[in-house]
Amino acid sequence: MQYVSTRGAAPILGFSDVVLAGLATDGGLYVPESWPTISSVPKGSYADLATSIFLPYLGGDISPETMSALCADAYSTFRHPDVVPLVNLEPGHQLMELFHGPTLAFKDVALQLLGRLFDHILTERNEKVTIVGATSGDTGSAAIDGVKNCDNVNIVILYPKGRVSDVQRRQMTTVDSPNVRTVAIDGTFDDCQDLVKAMFNDAPFRQRNNLSAVNSINWARVMAQVVYYFEISRRVVGPFDVTVPTGNFGNVLSGWIAQQMGAPVRHLVVASNENDILTRFFESLAMNVTGVHPTLSPSMDIQVSSNFERLLFEMNGRDGGLSAEQLRVFRDKGTLSVESDQYEQWIAPTFRAGRANNHDTLATIRSVYENSGMLIDPHTAVGVKAAREFTEEGVPMITLATAHPAKFPDAVERATGIRPELPEHLSNLFDLPEKTSELPNDLAAVEAFVERS
Ligand SMILES: *Cc1c(COP(=O)(O)O)cnc(C)c1O
Repeated sequence: MQYVSTRGAAPILGFSDVVLAGLATDGGLYVPESWPTISSVPKGSYADLATSIFLPYLGGDISPETMSALCADAYSTFRHPDVVPLVNLEPGHQLMELFHGPTLAFKDVALQLLGRLFDHILTERNEKVTIVGATSGDTGSAAIDGVKNCDNVNIVILYPKGRVSDVQRRQMTTVDSPNVRTVAIDGTFDDCQDLVKAMFNDAPFRQRNNLSAVNSINWARVMAQVVYYFEISRRVVGPFDVTVPTGNFGNVLSGWIAQQMGAPVRHLVVASNENDILTRFFESLAMNVTGVHPTLSPSMDIQVSSNFERLLFEMNGRDGGLSAEQLRVFRDKGTLSVESDQYEQWIAPTFRAGRANNHDTLATIRSVYENSGMLIDPHTAVGVKAAREFTEEGVPMITLATAHPAKFPDAVERATGIRPELPEHLSNLFDLPEKTSELPNDLAAVEAFVERS
């Protein structure tokens, strides 16, 4: 199996190189040259299922025995025996809880594996890397937890000072590992992201420090998320619909890939908060950039969904040149549209789109609590609101629960009057000492810090 860039002008690479590269050199995203199919879904543990889904993507770079060991180790960090349990919500509607990993958000499913993949590949090559990343909350803690025991990886995470929640900050700053650094930047999340981009664009600095990234465009993250769509197929009968609280389009793209691989996924409902660029696209065939509004579901407060580029590449008949040109115009003018025949072929059969504003989000958290006694987080609530709109008699609907309610306790308390408690393994989070640094929004200062790390 080889991988090609969605912009058609980067070297074709094998699996291990794609994992380490993250972004392609032409600015595109790597995709496999074709979609493998799974003829029969294996029985066994979640880790066994994951191993067999991944094998066709590895192209011999990693042996089945090694991959099996990496998966077993990665998913042993989840606190539920089913790893991603399905629970009943209301008739015909279930939640798949993706938040039983170490940092309480679905990003653990991919990042626990990715950290181990990095360590394995780097050990074999006798190389070391420094991962730099910016976070508005969930990604930073999940990335740190994924690599905190890796000998060949240093990680430096920038976060906007005073603008991440206490739980999110403490999940990063209380990790006591010699290879982990966190930096509070005097600025916004966008400033942090710009600093990371600037470090990657500084070629001598990038090479000297062997910089690497684990952001949501990394192929291995998308691949890891395909598994739980197959897991749904092991637990429900017949075709099913899945609703996905969406930001960067990574999670829902994994559902589309599962469908290409033969999973009986019927509809994928893209659920947006007030930052609804994707929902507007699915309704109008045009993607138009507006500003980002802060909402109660901050991990979905995104202006442009980077993983959408992988679907666009398919819609363009895998023409990288055409995709690159469309994306260039999109960057300049803030608008991108597709033709109605592309819509009929790729979008209409599979995708549905819904939205929930802050009021809907709180009302949904409240109604779920009143009907079932269950507390759900605001991201999951955006999904549940959309799912209720698109549920059809006789077709199971599964909403992906992307965060534990205790990760966003303020919104849950506002809606229900009840403050959700952190699970046992994090109950001492507020007693542990914090270790972090503070830096101005200044590239030279940040580069000097990374160099010393
Ligand atoms: C990252 C995140 C999302 C959005 O997922 P994408 O793959 O970016 O679409 C949704 N909910 C939570 C809790 C998240 O952390």
